Amino acid sequence: MLSFVARPDAAQPARGQVDVVDAWTNEEVKAGIAELLLRWEHRLPADRTTAIVIKPNLNNDLVALSGNCTDLRVLDALCAELRARSYTDITIADGSNVGIARREISTFRRLRVDSLVTRYGVRIVDLNKDPGTPVVLHNDAHPTVANTILNAGFLISVPKVKTHAEAQLSCAMKNWVGICCGQDKRHMHYDLSRNIFAINEVVQPDLILVDGLVGMEGNGPGDGEPFRFGHLVMSDDAFVNDAVVARLVGLSWRDVPYLGHAMDAGALTGEIAARLELEIPMLRPIKRPPARTRLAKLAENRSLEWLKRTVRPIVQKPEVTEVAYKLKIVQDVYFLEDDTLRVTGRAVEKCGTCTRCVGFCPTGLALEDIGRKTTLPDCAQCLYCWWVCPNDAIVLTGEPNGMARQIARYKKEIEQL
Ligand code: SF4
Ligand code: SF4
Repeated sequence: MLSFVARPDAAQPARGQVDVVDAWTNEEVKAGIAELLLRWEHRLPADRTTAIVIKPNLNNDLVALSGNCTDLRVLDALCAELRARSYTDITIADGSNVGIARREISTFRRLRVDSLVTRYGVRIVDLNKDPGTPVVLHNDAHPTVANTILNAGFLISVPKVKTHAEAQLSCAMKNWVGICCGQDKRHMHYDLSRNIFAINEVVQPDLILVDGLVGMEGNGPGDGEPFRFGHLVMSDDAFVNDAVVARLVGLSWRDVPYLGHAMDAGALTGEIAARLELEIPMLRPIKRPPARTRLAKLAENRSLEWLKRTVRPIVQKPEVTEVAYKLKIVQDVYFLEDDTLRVTGRAVEKCGTCTRCVGFCPTGLALEDIGRKTTLPDCAQCLYCWWVCPNDAIVLTGEPNGMARQIARYKKEIEQL
């Protein structure tokens, strides 16, 4: 285990500890999260009835193995560990991006989070529909922050590690954009980096569990390439956490503007940054996002908001968005129809001996049960076994519908992770 303590001389409990473990297969994810939580046991609430709110990163409907969203293996292991400690009040809450919210798409459903967590009796809250409380940030931004987050007894942030075309890096601090309700998330873009820092000053998670299994690099967060990172990170301080994660992927705090704001405000210090560079190794350099095109910047221009609203009925059509995607104005193309895909079998004659499907199955099925046990509580129909199978051995029924585009974009890359 790799550890960093930002303020070793501070009176305990001081924030600013970060632990990193290796993990790749489902078995390793479960063992890694068990090890981390054992180490952080003293920070968990003593009262087993505390309202625990888990905030993953489900900002889009792209399968987690693309590097975009929180991996179901991490959510499953976290819920299992909390339940094993007899916590009775657990909620998974997130508010997806504005495009998803406007189209009333449920990422909980598309990503199968709703199916998976029925195994644990965990409640789901869509923060885009949650009542909220306005907060004042920078440059006239005043988004509404979801009350489920503000009223939580213990908050666990479960971010991803990915590049972000505008913010450069997305991890714990960027994950907090998702605590804003619905279209109010637009306010964050009035001055994104400054507001990412500011909203992390308004409310801090009690614990952070970074899903650093499959990351996304290049043109993230919606159109980058997945890469095998293979780490889990636990921390109690979003600023130090993100500075450490930046270092792990070969970035300096200077490369990430919101970390610069944390530095200016004293949430990070030159001493912490210098020590971090000495003590934390670079594990895997991330391919940085390309410079945003002029058109992409223009599309985000706040003074043109009225124009965007006027042309939205046309621009929202998938064929028009596809053109905008090709012109690199947008990263995301959304489809209204959910997929109906289901795993119904495993073709033994095509199956090799790789056991990749076993390593990625969040419910921990053995090879002989993959494609045989196809309903809850054994199988959440997440399709991970199908995504990773290089031999086309997992049998599916149903229609891809809105998932067709991401299958064309990511299936081959995910098979090679
Ligand atoms: S990933 Fe595919 S080929 Fe490999 S063991 Fe599973 S079903 Fe067989
Ligand atoms: S068997 Fe396949 S579809 Fe079912 S939970 Fe495991 S990985 Fe997901």
